[in-house]
Amino acid sequence: MQTPVFYNTLGRHLSQLETVVPGEVRMYTCGPTVYNTAHIGNLRTFVFEDVLRRALHFLGWRVEQVMNLTDVDDKTIGGAASAGVSLGEFTQPFIESFFQDLDRLHIQRAEHYPRATEHIEEMLELVQKLVEKGYAYESDGSVFFRIGEDEDYGKLSGFDLSQVRQGERVASDDYDKEDVRDFVLWKGAKEGEPAWDSPWGPGRPGWHLECSAMGMKYLGESFDIHCGGVDNIFPHHENEIAQSESATGKPFVRTWIHAEHLIVDGEKMSKSLGNFYTLQDLEDRGVDLRALRYQMLSVHYRKKLNFTFDGLADAGAALKRLDEMRFRLLHAAESETVSDSVIKPACERLLQEFGDALANDLNTSEALAALFGFVREVNQAVDSERLAVGDRQRVLDSLSRVDEVLGVLDAEAWRGAEVDGSSDEAIDRLLVERRQAREARDFARADEIRDQLTEQGIVLEDTPTGTRWKRQ
Ligand code: AMP
Ligand code: ZN
Repeated sequence: MQTPVFYNTLGRHLSQLETVVPGEVRMYTCGPTVYNTAHIGNLRTFVFEDVLRRALHFLGWRVEQVMNLTDVDDKTIGGAASAGVSLGEFTQPFIESFFQDLDRLHIQRAEHYPRATEHIEEMLELVQKLVEKGYAYESDGSVFFRIGEDEDYGKLSGFDLSQVRQGERVASDDYDKEDVRDFVLWKGAKEGEPAWDSPWGPGRPGWHLECSAMGMKYLGESFDIHCGGVDNIFPHHENEIAQSESATGKPFVRTWIHAEHLIVDGEKMSKSLGNFYTLQDLEDRGVDLRALRYQMLSVHYRKKLNFTFDGLADAGAALKRLDEMRFRLLHAAESETVSDSVIKPACERLLQEFGDALANDLNTSEALAALFGFVREVNQAVDSERLAVGDRQRVLDSLSRVDEVLGVLDAEAWRGAEVDGSSDEAIDRLLVERRQAREARDFARADEIRDQLTEQGIVLEDTPTGTRWKRQ
């Protein structure tokens, strides 16, 4: 097991991962607000969290991950009201499209996807505890967190309470707080809005409260990692800390990790600028989502990701180099006479460097650099006919190992269900057999293989570097 270092937003420094239970990481990742289809900015954050989860597995940790679904808040309630349907009817299609998006980007499933509307009881218990301890107060059917009682407030974001004058009023604020800095835990119901019973009358939870209650329910009062995009740091995560720690008296989360935003052509993604993309928008433009995932991996999560179509093309070209290497490898001969395999140490080095890069604050760009160093070495060994017996399998095994984290190398898995019965690997194997048959001047067998493939709708093209194939 390798212990990674992460940049902890709490304290703003790199620190070694420490977990409550040795060998196990319990992590909470803020999920989607299901009032619309996710855009590729949201998905950058979800891909980052997926890679974090996969990297922890790669480094030898067990992972218990929660991603919540915010299915009640101002936006979902507003959306349901304008559509004239119930909250559940309104959010259901967006929940479905969220899971489809995860699959389309090969994001692994978390252990839990709790919905806010199914955890109202836990949320009410938390509010009750805060009221009993004097951290929260009721006002006109709503309950507020009393920020002035929390000496630590601001420790995550650096927010300076003294900069906001006490008693100052905010015009848009239609709830009656004691102090403008206080935030709402429970909102008293307004006419026509969905509501749940509470000791303070009918109402609904505030967004921050949802994540605290669900995080502690599934992962315990203190857990290891909490993630989100940088926009979540304040006020969302600051408020989560305030509520949770005031209620339990224990540290809520040890390591806070935040991903920078995705921007488009250097600008913020927004509907009005016409640069707001969902996965469907990109697929409609013929974009290969495998290249999108690769593009997301190629930039460190703490840097802004500037999404451009040129960048996507570069990602596609990088994937092509990887596919090409695999193709050449499958068609290269292994030799009994090569005894000093260069591949074996290259594989060991790849896995070492790849793991080190991930353990270094999830440095995916460095991890990809290690992979491309390896690709060069394999290509050289193939060119100079220095593959020893077993080298092909060694390379393939190492690639599948790194792909447990990257999730982009297996071209066939990305092509999905359209594959008609015979896998790419089976075709590749037949082509190797055909080449060997030709080398042994067994042309009857070579022709037989070609005919078999033609029947399957596979077209062969003999080139100087080997035989290529495509599906008709
Ligand atoms: P939401 O559905 O708005 O609650 O957001 C879901 C996740 O997407 C949150 O973790 C946000 O921080 C993240 N997010 C929102 N906009 C962007 C963006 N442009 N780039 C990266 N992540 C984002
Ligand atoms: Zn959250």
